[in-house]
Amino acid sequence: DGAALSRIGLAGLAVMGQNLALNIAEKGFPISAYNRTASKVDETVKRAVQEGNLPLNGHHSPQDFVLSIKKPRSVIILVKAGLPVDQTIDTLARYMEPGDCIVDGGNEWYENTERRLQAVKEKGLLYLGMGVSGGEEGARYGPSLMPGGTLEAYKSIEDVLQKVAAQVDDGPCVTYVGEGGAGNFVKMVHNGIEYGDMQLISEAYDVLKSVGGLTNQELHEAFSEWNKSELESFLIEITSDIFNVKDDKGPGELVDKILDKTGMKGTGKWTVQQAAELSIAVPTIAASLDSRFLSGLKEERVAAANIFRANGLEDILTHKKLDKKQLIDDVRKALYASKICSYAQGMNLLRAKSLEKGWNLNLGELARIWKGGCIIRAAFLDRIKKAYNRNPNLASLLIDPEFAREMVERQAAWRRVVSLAISVGVSTPGMSSSLAYFDTYRRARLPANLVQAQRDYFGAHTYERVDKDGTYHTEWHKLA
Ligand code: NAP
Repeated sequence: DGAALSRIGLAGLAVMGQNLALNIAEKGFPISAYNRTASKVDETVKRAVQEGNLPLNGHHSPQDFVLSIKKPRSVIILVKAGLPVDQTIDTLARYMEPGDCIVDGGNEWYENTERRLQAVKEKGLLYLGMGVSGGEEGARYGPSLMPGGTLEAYKSIEDVLQKVAAQVDDGPCVTYVGEGGAGNFVKMVHNGIEYGDMQLISEAYDVLKSVGGLTNQELHEAFSEWNKSELESFLIEITSDIFNVKDDKGPGELVDKILDKTGMKGTGKWTVQQAAELSIAVPTIAASLDSRFLSGLKEERVAAANIFRANGLEDILTHKKLDKKQLIDDVRKALYASKICSYAQGMNLLRAKSLEKGWNLNLGELARIWKGGCIIRAAFLDRIKKAYNRNPNLASLLIDPEFAREMVERQAAWRRVVSLAISVGVSTPGMSSSLAYFDTYRRARLPANLVQAQRDYFGAHTYERVDKDGTYHTEWHKLA
């Protein structure tokens, strides 16, 4: 009975899968749902009823699940990345038929997707690796979707994806990203950029709180104001909210009771590793990753603080009288300029990988699908989209005429913030490395001539000259 069959199936009903399944059902696509552990299936079915009798049917048997989907079948998998994906594919593929399509929506390593794409091709199955961003809320009400893999597979579920994705002024936050593991790679870099944004915001907080002496109430107000400025974004908005939340277990705000140790799941590390593989500088993203590593050394940091205090070095070196209003304004500008540098790095990493793999990534279109649904959604992504639309071959976002002007307008404030932080001993690794990136990129001549001379001196690595063609070697030790 074809009419009773589902439009699509979803396997893996933890946070992401459960919410995405309900979202798909709510958009009017009858969906079949399956999970290895049956209780999550029942839970999802219950929610579908509660949230408006949504067209979702649950299955405890993988065979019943697959057979309940209309051919050619599309099955989205949302389980833990890695081996669980292989196991889930094994479980489901035995009931699938040529022309059916598997969509892995997890944060998967892109090469795993490329391997699986080839493996299932032998059975005639199509495959997509689809980045999904937006967490629980996004999955339920509209995520940003980054599908890559077989174009034919994308076409077969485009109608569903376009409806379930977040909607912004210029369309749904989904596009066919490219072949192979392109979708997973783009999601990985999205997460790397997210690390950068979060680190930069935490540094802005640290400068305002530790140096400027702002209270949580004042921080809440500053971030609320910023959310009406060029910084308007989801992360600024939730940060403003965070300062407002009272501790439910004692006096004061909850943020002050949270242990200063950041967790991570690996996509930031992969981003930095990939950047190194491709010789792309991503210092802001790398600084964010390093900051997470250092945050993990809580006991060591406490011990080090004691040792340096015993030797006369205070945690914060001076408490100058600061004009709070001016400081807030400067930090806003420093944050924005630093953020542009971080996005320039992420975009250049995407371009380099695209060239290596022949993915033909459209950077402007990627900025567009990040405008809604995802964690890095921000007003300024529209500006990035426009920059790449003006010039798809833009070497760096920094030299787009509009961004260049914005950087110049903010650089004095940016230098004041970084100098202030350095002078009082508050580290701002993200803002500082963004500034160093900017100052390195914009200089026509760097001290790299000296490094070349050293390399030639000790290793006969040769050098080029600024005034003559050719490759040169000098017997430095004989001349010195
Ligand atoms: P998760 O905690 O990563 O994974 C739990 C799910 O995986 C459960 O359905 C579990 O089934 C299933 N699973 C684990 N091992 C399995 C195996 N060997 N065979 C079959 N199923 C197995 O779930 P999640 O947080 O919803 O994330 C799903 C994917 O989306 C991940 O790749 C994650 O990185 C990505 N993602 C998550 C977020 C987020 O905000 N959480 C955002 C974007 C992307 P059982 O119930 O049977 O244990």
